[in-house]
Amino acid sequence: MKLRTVREGEFAGKRVVMRVDYNVSLGRGLKIVDDTRIKHTLPTIKFLLERGAKQIVLMSHLGRPGGKKIERLSLRPVGRHLEELLGRKVEFVNDIVATSPKAPARGPWRDDQPQSASAGPLAGRPGTILLLENLRFWPGEKANDPEFAKRLAEWGEVYVNDAFGVSHRKHASVVGVPRLLPSFAGLSLNREVETILKAVNQPKRPLCVIIGGAKVSDKIGLLFKLIELADEILIGGGMANTFLVAEGYEMQESVVEMEAVKTARELLRKAEDRGVMIHLPSDVVVGNLKTGKHNGSVLVNQIPKGMQALDIGPKTQVEFGKVIAKAGTIVWNGPMGVFEEDSFRSGTDFIYYSLTGNTEAFVVVGGGDTLAAISKKEHLERIDHVSTGGGAMLELIEKGTLPGIEYLVEES
Ligand code: AMP
Repeated sequence: MKLRTVREGEFAGKRVVMRVDYNVSLGRGLKIVDDTRIKHTLPTIKFLLERGAKQIVLMSHLGRPGGKKIERLSLRPVGRHLEELLGRKVEFVNDIVATSPKAPARGPWRDDQPQSASAGPLAGRPGTILLLENLRFWPGEKANDPEFAKRLAEWGEVYVNDAFGVSHRKHASVVGVPRLLPSFAGLSLNREVETILKAVNQPKRPLCVIIGGAKVSDKIGLLFKLIELADEILIGGGMANTFLVAEGYEMQESVVEMEAVKTARELLRKAEDRGVMIHLPSDVVVGNLKTGKHNGSVLVNQIPKGMQALDIGPKTQVEFGKVIAKAGTIVWNGPMGVFEEDSFRSGTDFIYYSLTGNTEAFVVVGGGDTLAAISKKEHLERIDHVSTGGGAMLELIEKGTLPGIEYLVEES
């Protein structure tokens, strides 16, 4: 699959409406905690300005306001941060529906007036930049209401999607607008799609996929797909518990999805038939989240009564580490344990550590939790591709496409 990217578009004198993923976490005083997602969109913004775009209208959601205005989820602080990064004014549009797109609200920073911030690399270039208020303040966004999509489309003559992390969502700004306008993939989105598809479809073998996180049911479709693609699959986190029950172990108070046990068993059988190795934990760190107890590690056939499996144990770390060390390509999503608590984060830290050790492999890591779990930033430097989207990455691997990129596929 090849996407039609902005490199193939004609933007001179055009108004461009661009979906970005500025769903960042805001800390105290509405300060942006991590601006990686914003920085990812700068190359495409810069590219469009260089190609002579007259106006770039950025649109994003932030958090889950549920279709109504919630002041603390306004994108206004993001707009201010973007101004600093770009070194030029970003006009903010408060009411997407009431403001006429043909005559956007203009601040005192028109092309013919001096830029307030003039230090950045894009200062002084013609073209205005607008940021629309949080799309999810309007119920039409999540409902993919055609009228809302039409309203958004009126902000541009051309549409660009540079929001990989939301491209699996069938929302108005993701699938509604590209139906109405000539559409292109942004540079960041294109790189994500190319890199992830290459990692799983043309990997340097062995391909080792590490899957963790809370639930099997969220990832079962993906796991069935993975046994067609991968050589080795390492399963940790809460979802490993369901597989261990399928193998006949007594998991005591651990999180288990009993309704998924049968499917887990089927998956294990299918993997065996295909000669794909699924590695489950042989020991786990036990404790109890309700009582705050932490009881060290035990073999999976010796979990004491009243205890929960909350991380992979040291023996499993060694076993997983051996597989990781031999891999040619590694794809990872989902923590190995309840990393939010220090007592249960060692397994997740260990995975980062082992990825760093395998300098030959191509490594792709994705997912908010997986990235949040990283304790040492230097591990990130060793990772070849850090995906901005967890859900989108998994769906792209499972289905080979995403609703939001269907409209951007180059016709052959
Ligand atoms: P996910 O969103 O599916 O990637 O799941 C991430 C969540 O899974 C994190 O909040 C972890 O605390 C949780 N988790 C990981 N391992 C376990 C476990 N063994 N038992 C319960 N929750 C877990």
